Amino acid sequence: MTRVVLATRNAHKVEELDAILRDLVGELGLEVVGVTAFPDVEDVVESGVTFAENATLKAVTVARETGLPAIADDSGLAVDVLGGCPGVFSARWSGTSGADKDRRNNELLLAQLSDVPDEHRAAGFVCAAALALPDGSVRVREGRIPGRLGREPRGSGGFGYDPLLIVDGGDRTLAEFSPEEKNAVSHRGNAFRALAEDLRELFGADASREGGR
Ligand code: IMP
Repeated sequence: MTRVVLATRNAHKVEELDAILRDLVGELGLEVVGVTAFPDVEDVVESGVTFAENATLKAVTVARETGLPAIADDSGLAVDVLGGCPGVFSARWSGTSGADKDRRNNELLLAQLSDVPDEHRAAGFVCAAALALPDGSVRVREGRIPGRLGREPRGSGGFGYDPLLIVDGGDRTLAEFSPEEKNAVSHRGNAFRALAEDLRELFGADASREGGR
């Protein structure tokens, strides 16, 4: 059984990725281990300026340090009128990393956009999913979910900016979706469903027939 390391310590992401990748992991006979199982692996500084760069940094570092294939994601909210911000700064937009950071990030963003009319509130979540092998090779796929920003938080599901993003095609925020509904349409779901093709190619039955891993 091939072990693959999931290079994230964010409990919300681990939960979502676990559900998104469950069937594929079963199909390919992979064992997914969290990076917390490797206490010597230090936190990777996210010094990249794009989601793809940061996801690559995390996956490549963890693959190198563990000697195992590693998958990582980097994600955030991109607001059109802010030129794509908070973007890679989404996690600490309000300058805090404390327990109430989600609430403070949301409050700050709503205040910044308080005068912006509805027709200019387009935004979306973006996710880059990276798969790195111990030999240094890496594949990155991107997923998105478009919508617009509401004027107050709504819903109790998900995490982060979910209560602010009203998903295109309806009037519900992502925090008003069930976990299954969110995974079916989310940026993370879309990115990892694209990366699934790479995982199949590298670890599927055809790969082993061709002498792959
Ligand atoms: P990362 O851990 O550097 O990828 O930070 C991602 C940040 O973007 C999170 O802390 C959230 O603020 C935001 N974010 C990413 N994905 C989601 C999502 O699915 N829903 C809501 N916020 C998200």
